[in-house]
Amino acid sequence: MDKIVIIGNGIAGVTAARHIRKLSNKQIVIVSAETDYFFSRTALMYVYMGHMKFDHIKPYEDWFWKKNRIDLINDYVTSVDHQGKRLILQNGEDVTYDKLILATGSKPNKFGWPGQDLEGVQGLVSKQDLDLLEKNAPNNKVCKHAVVVGGGLIGIELCEMLRSREIPVTFLVREKSFWNGVLPDGESAMINEHILEHHIDLRLGVNLDEILSDEKRKVRAITIKETGEEIACDIVGLSAGVTPNIDFLKDSGIELNKGIKVNRFLETNIEDIYAIGDCAEQHEAIGNRRPVEAVWYTGRMMGETVAQTICGNKREYNPGHWFNSAKFLDIEYQTYGWVFSTNGKKEHESHFHWRHETEKICITLSYDTNSGKFLGINTFGIRMRHEVFDRWLTDERQADYVIEHLKDANFDPEFYAQYESDIVGKYNSEMNKNIQLKKKSWKRILSLGA
Ligand SMILES: Cc1cc2nc3c(=O)[nH]c(=O)nc-3n(C[C@H](O)[C@H](O)[C@H](O)COP(=O)(O)OP(=O)(O)OC[C@H]3O[C@@H](n4cnc5c(N)ncnc54)[C@H](O)[C@@H]3O)c2cc1C
Repeated sequence: MDKIVIIGNGIAGVTAARHIRKLSNKQIVIVSAETDYFFSRTALMYVYMGHMKFDHIKPYEDWFWKKNRIDLINDYVTSVDHQGKRLILQNGEDVTYDKLILATGSKPNKFGWPGQDLEGVQGLVSKQDLDLLEKNAPNNKVCKHAVVVGGGLIGIELCEMLRSREIPVTFLVREKSFWNGVLPDGESAMINEHILEHHIDLRLGVNLDEILSDEKRKVRAITIKETGEEIACDIVGLSAGVTPNIDFLKDSGIELNKGIKVNRFLETNIEDIYAIGDCAEQHEAIGNRRPVEAVWYTGRMMGETVAQTICGNKREYNPGHWFNSAKFLDIEYQTYGWVFSTNGKKEHESHFHWRHETEKICITLSYDTNSGKFLGINTFGIRMRHEVFDRWLTDERQADYVIEHLKDANFDPEFYAQYESDIVGKYNSEMNKNIQLKKKSWKRILSLGA
């Protein structure tokens, strides 16, 4: 019987294990160093904010693994010997395998800032980071001021977490506007306003220069490169992106670049070794996707795909249309298809943007300038139906069609009904059209799944 060993008990690794178990009787072992059991990394923030206990973010009961004959080893793998088909653990022991799945995730970026290893400087990726945050910033008496560096999704989460304990926060963002390498300008501007309204001291277009120490090697302040300004603080949160966790594979013979290089079957250059999740890097990016995708649902999809291949149904990784969702403080964000930032727009990509007059609600619809084909949509503060947009993208609908049938995509028609006529009105006047909003049709929506 094949022995499958998986390094990493995150969403990618445990999905692979669960699906291999569904499909086979193979022996399965997961080796992971962070925690005994799988937990939902995306929900870490809610533990600090007091909405949940850590036990609540473990999707499976502790008995689940034994019942499903998935053996767990809590240890760090220091190296992989692919000729001997074995892993070397930090405790000195070996684990042999027939097939190996690397699902080692990401680690936070550090850019060699002076003082980056001082006490009180930390990222927010692991359970250990959460514990450290609890120690470094338990309340606003111990932590009188925090600085968060890096304006991405984790940065804004960290600001929200600290603000939930009324800790004053300065947020250093290198870009001229929040996340405008990803978001179109109108949306990015709306989020800037929202951050400021939440009493976060947002500094745009600035870089961290140095982290300064007190006499006990603990952080006492930071300086800003552009202005030389010194800001006193008790904690510095580093959230300037993540990189694949692959240092331990340096001399393994497995082909590495930014991540572990894989083909469409998630196979590495070494037979019987696969890589999935945040640590995997596609040789050729799939469409507009990035070669490394540090996203929850793609980790899950890769886990399912590799399980099929390992169980004899060789399958390509095919993630379908891009989608994602996140939250900027209390504004929900969803994206379906491709909507690039204002500066990063593709050739022939045009945008239609609508923003509510008073509330923090907006959409940006992207379409092909020449053909009018719908390319994607971003929504803020309005929840839309994934399956409806997915189908419209597959069917290559026109932007006009999407606007006309917007009610079909609306998740909560009673609540949001009034926005649609406003959106259509603006679309008509900007595009010189006369589109009439169609009534919501359940028949049409249900037929999408057929
Ligand atoms: C705060 C935060 C919020 C996020 N929010 C979102 C979100 O809203 N939406 C979204 O799509 N994505 C989000 N992400 C990203 C998402 O969580 C990741 O894409 C996903 O968790 C990656 O899963 P994975 O299984 O590839 O790796 P991971 O979950 O990182 O698991 C890998 C595991 O392998 C272990 N490991 C690594 N090397 C070794 C070794 N040598 N030996 C033993 N063990 C090892 C690691 O310690 C880790 O436990 C968020 C990430 C963070 C940090």
